[in-house]
Amino acid sequence: MIKSHAFAENDKKIRRLLLSWYDRNRRILPWRAEAGEAPDPYHVWLSEIMLQQTTVPAVKNYFLRFLELWPTVFDLANAPPEDVMKEWAGLGYYARARNLQKCAGQIVSAYGGRFPSDETELQNLPGIGPYTAAAIRAIGYNKPAIVIDGNVDRVICRLFAIETPLPKSKGDIRNHASGLYDGVGKRASDLPQAFMDLGSMVCTPKSPSCGLCPLNKLCLAHKQTNAEKYPVKPPKVQKPTRKGAAYLILLRNKRGKIDKILIERRPDNRMLGGMVGFPDTNWDQKQERDDDYMKKWGCLYKNAVDIGKVSHVFSHFSLELGIMGIVINIGELPALNENQSIVSINKVEELGLPGLFLKTSRFIKEIHAEYS
Ligand code: SF4
Repeated sequence: MIKSHAFAENDKKIRRLLLSWYDRNRRILPWRAEAGEAPDPYHVWLSEIMLQQTTVPAVKNYFLRFLELWPTVFDLANAPPEDVMKEWAGLGYYARARNLQKCAGQIVSAYGGRFPSDETELQNLPGIGPYTAAAIRAIGYNKPAIVIDGNVDRVICRLFAIETPLPKSKGDIRNHASGLYDGVGKRASDLPQAFMDLGSMVCTPKSPSCGLCPLNKLCLAHKQTNAEKYPVKPPKVQKPTRKGAAYLILLRNKRGKIDKILIERRPDNRMLGGMVGFPDTNWDQKQERDDDYMKKWGCLYKNAVDIGKVSHVFSHFSLELGIMGIVINIGELPALNENQSIVSINKVEELGLPGLFLKTSRFIKEIHAEYS
């Protein structure tokens, strides 16, 4: 985009003030290189994938644990997939974990373990979209790229008082960002991180600290004394609710003690694919139980106990899952499919269950009490 001299000067001032603030205030983060040191693109990639839809405090320990287990992309590529899924449990958006390992495999097989710096090549890898590709190029290789995350969105919307609601304003935001990132020179790695730090520490979504902001003299939203209005959001749309049922199938051993439970690794094409959970119906039911599904478990469905309900919110819908409890004598268990297995009830919480099934597992005790 060709910019007038006045706009280019304004962008230059913003860059200078922001980078000088960053030099004094940069956050220390486990994936970030020390000032003056070259970042490791593996760390940049891993952290950026983990940070999608997830906050910095939630990601820190996961990142450190992954690096401890798999210090290089070669280690991650060779890790057992179920171990990667287990360590990812709790971070949500589980397709990211599956793509993570596929991507690590391709980095090793096609690139000899070195991430490319070209954005098009990066976007051809599993799980890497335009944002992550730009972040790896800029932060990991100190090469110019337009990196726009939620923090950058917010700071730019406020600096330029963009009135168009998100996401329609994305084009405007990108035009402003391209002016700001142009001419960044040797600090291509620092500038996006400076925006991210400013957005996280000063230009926060609620109650931004404009008095402490290095950009306040240039910021149109601050001039209007109306910073929180930006970014302008579209009217809220109510999330739809889906329903389904999950089955806690407990097993009684030959001595009459209930000590085991049936678990199931979810197929990749379902929500929470690849994660461990409990058998469940589709989530498009009108009701929270499904007797036909239960017939798969023989006539025992008659003995099922409607034990309660779990509510869980996903990004684009809310789920209400009815929880049914069944107790089966170990000798009467129907044949299991390849994704199903039996584990000790005491070990369930060590399996790395995703949040939905962790909530569901809390009903095990109640079923146990009901049948004991
Ligand atoms: Fe954000 Fe306030 Fe700084 Fe403007 S002056 S960029 S609104 S913190």
